[in-house]
Amino acid sequence: MPDEHPRIARERKTIKIMIEMHCKAHHDVKKGLCSKCSELQDYAMKRLDKCKLHENKPTCAKCTVHCYKPAMRERVRAVMRYSGPRMLSRHPVLALLHLRDSRRKVEGGR
Ligand SMILES: [Zn+2]
Repeated sequence: MPDEHPRIARERKTIKIMIEMHCKAHHDVKKGLCSKCSELQDYAMKRLDKCKLHENKPTCAKCTVHCYKPAMRERVRAVMRYSGPRMLSRHPVLALLHLRDSRRKVEGGR
């Protein structure tokens, strides 16, 4: 998507990296993602396709618009818990931007 907002494009990238880190550490895969994690990644990408908040959105894990179904939300939160702190050492720039985004508030919501 060429005219996608950079904010959304960055979240896609960040989520992919985080899911990959989590999968490598917890699931027995040689390369790429296990089927569960690629399912989660597809789901996350589809949520971003549909996201209406664009550049004003916080990160998905912190978003007050609960567009994830509960089971997927739990899975993505587990990924964040593991990969979040590790992002800082491996991808510091992305991690800091992600942190900044996660503090955003949805306009009109709380
Ligand atoms: Zn996995």
